[in-house]
Amino acid sequence: MSMIEFHDVQKYYGDFHALKDINLTVEAGETVVLIGPSGSGKSTLIRTINGLEPIQDGKLIVNGYDLADKKTDPNKIRKNVGMVFQHFNLYANKTVLENIMLAPKVVLKRDDDENRDFAMKLLDQVGLASKADSYPRQLSGGQQQRIAIARSLAMRPKCLLFDEPTSALDPEMIDDVLNVMKDIARDSDMTMLVVTHEMGFAREVGDRVIFMADGQILEDDSKETFFDGQ
Ligand code: ADP
Ligand code: ADP
Repeated sequence: MSMIEFHDVQKYYGDFHALKDINLTVEAGETVVLIGPSGSGKSTLIRTINGLEPIQDGKLIVNGYDLADKKTDPNKIRKNVGMVFQHFNLYANKTVLENIMLAPKVVLKRDDDENRDFAMKLLDQVGLASKADSYPRQLSGGQQQRIAIARSLAMRPKCLLFDEPTSALDPEMIDDVLNVMKDIARDSDMTMLVVTHEMGFAREVGDRVIFMADGQILEDDSKETFFDGQ
């Protein structure tokens, strides 16, 4: 079974046709990079995958669940599909550790000791163990984004979606975030969809590059084909 399957998916915002006839299959463990001009539907496409945006026609299957089926529990999708945004979206009044522990505590009822141990392990993995008791405002943008990634990983998702995770960052912080993402792509069996302008990331760890324009997928190439063709 594939991790994600789009079959003739249509998405409208009112009268505006934002996703046109999307057909796309992503296998478990693949890293897919989405590129294309601003407004082409990249963000909309990945937001349909965790149910943030409903689709109006076609079929969308994620981890075996049919998203258009009213009987599908949206929590089943959210547990398995994490999302990292451009603007971090950390809880400002919670410490770094509390940010990471919150969803597993509330949604999964994870035992407190296990939750803390795993959160500390993730903090270590993103190089920020010393910041456990800091508040988001005390951290740089790059550090906040690494915390946001750790927070997503805390749910042990099968799939992680990234919506321009480095485009709000000062240039000197981008590599720290990309390196964390590369580690995940290389060292875990995570399925990753990444909207980004960082072609170095695509070249190093991407399996496929998808090019979107005007709500359509115009190219869906293996990394080798994509970069050889340039
Ligand atoms: P991209 O990520 O490629 O920049 P988006 O998916 O954000 O593109 O947007 C695709 C198109 O859909 C744009 O024209 C955008 O203005 C429009 N759009 C996005 N979100 C909404 C919304 N909530 N309501 C209406 N139009 C939207
Ligand atoms: P980003 O590029 O960070 O995803 P956008 O500015 O594209 O941010 O969108 C921010 C929010 O505004 C999103 O929730 C998106 O759905 C919504 N949005 C984008 N374009 C439109 C639009 N034309 N009309 C209404 N809402 C929109």
